[in-house]
Amino acid sequence: MNDASKRSLPEDVAAISEAVAGAVLTIDLGAIRENYRRLKARLGDVRCAGVVKADGYGVGASQVAAALLREGCDTFFVALLGEGIALRRSLGPGPAIFVLNGIPPGAEPDAVAADLCAVINSVGQLVAWRAAARRAGRKLPAAIQVDSGMSRLGMAPGDVECIAADPQAFDGIDIRYVMSHLACADEPEHPANEKQRLAFERLRKMLPEAPASLTNSSGIFLGPSFHYDLARPGAALYGINPTPAKLNPMLPVVRLQAKVAQTRVIEKGAGVGYGHTYHAQGPLRLATISFGYADGWQRRAASAAWFEGTRLPFLGRVSMDSIILDISALPADKLRDGDLVELLGPSQSVDDAAGHAGTIGYEILTSLGPRFHRRYVNG
Ligand SMILES: *Cc1c(COP(=O)(O)O)cnc(C)c1O
Repeated sequence: MNDASKRSLPEDVAAISEAVAGAVLTIDLGAIRENYRRLKARLGDVRCAGVVKADGYGVGASQVAAALLREGCDTFFVALLGEGIALRRSLGPGPAIFVLNGIPPGAEPDAVAADLCAVINSVGQLVAWRAAARRAGRKLPAAIQVDSGMSRLGMAPGDVECIAADPQAFDGIDIRYVMSHLACADEPEHPANEKQRLAFERLRKMLPEAPASLTNSSGIFLGPSFHYDLARPGAALYGINPTPAKLNPMLPVVRLQAKVAQTRVIEKGAGVGYGHTYHAQGPLRLATISFGYADGWQRRAASAAWFEGTRLPFLGRVSMDSIILDISALPADKLRDGDLVELLGPSQSVDDAAGHAGTIGYEILTSLGPRFHRRYVNG
């Protein structure tokens, strides 16, 4: 590996070498590309965007977007204007980049300069984007987001009715999509899905005719009536199961391994970790790994690491930079200082880890910290 060239990447984290890091995060860009192809196969002729908000769900927006670009993906979604500007810098001109949370008031010139597409969530944002188009002397691209029942982002039905009555409402605006977002798509039987779809139908008919976009990852699996013209998957690209009640149809993307800092043997009765929340019931062999809650592993999460298929339970509390593992199940001297144990990977999926932590895979991925050596493979 050429460390000098890694250092020139915009994400300086890539410069943390494996030798100095406490943990290694491996991101399989080939798996992301395969996941994109699998979603596209389900979508048929429907276009498929890539959602790369929150730095590509924690795994690197610029690397993920570049990989998706090679699969023919030409439409990306980020949450924040700052993310959009950074992504434009890394992708260069061409691909469409939509800013889901809308353009903050007064920042329209920054969005125009970076050639971003506004997601217009309110009448105020519509007025501001129209004014920006007037100043720019050309039409500006946008998606109009309507609230079909999630009550988070997008124009309320009353607002849609108002602007529908105004013939000048969209002057200067190139409406690329009318879009909305599903609240319960990961629960296929949830009645809100069909209710939202019908509300979306009604709202989009009031607006100028434009391609439509409704589904996230899980919504793709609700069937073709939800697909419209453009799907917006995020989670499934990163290997999170979009069909939680069924086997995961996606490939795993991340592997997280932490380094053993030290091993030791303790006697019966010894207290383990802060607060001595655990006491040894008998002699035990322990390993302390250089990985803790500062790396995004919740202090409350009861969990385990894995080594060559053997489960190594956490003992006591998760510390900021370390976790104590019970390695008594391994032969003595099997695990040594500097060896890597697995926290995410073939033995423990992102969704498994989320289950143990009482959260969702999205939060596991986006919590991953900045101290890892990051290795991008199969790019
Ligand atoms: C995050 C997000 C997505 C992607 O959702 P996933 O569940 O990760 O596929 C799509 N659309 C909107 C509006 C979003 O906020």
